[in-house]
Amino acid sequence: MRKPGCNEDNVQMSDVLCDFCMQTWTEERPMVEGHQGSCICGDCLAAAYRTLVMVESAVPETPSKCVLCLELRSEPSWHAPAGTDPLRTGDDAPRICRRCVRQSAAVLQKVAEFGWRKPTA
Ligand SMILES: [Zn+2]
Ligand SMILES: [Zn+2]
Repeated sequence: MRKPGCNEDNVQMSDVLCDFCMQTWTEERPMVEGHQGSCICGDCLAAAYRTLVMVESAVPETPSKCVLCLELRSEPSWHAPAGTDPLRTGDDAPRICRRCVRQSAAVLQKVAEFGWRKPTA
């Protein structure tokens, strides 16, 4: 997401926040962008990948909206773990679907200078 009040015509790295942990984009913290400026950082993506892809989570009864693809998805989704911002962890917390986690992980890993790798067991 964009930092509120930033200049949309001249967006800096420090104006780009991860939708899940609200940390800013830095050289050390790569980001993958979804629709409408939504973003997930490498740290959150690694955590989401571990939860949704490595541990095959159960499919939820109620579909949830994914902030990256903006679709209502009937598949496991991830949100920031408890202990971070309460707005990011409640029922209304932003969620990412498993499909977007897989796609984003593939995208991020392809960019060699980020040095990001899919988590392994
Ligand atoms: Zn994050
Ligand atoms: Zn999605």
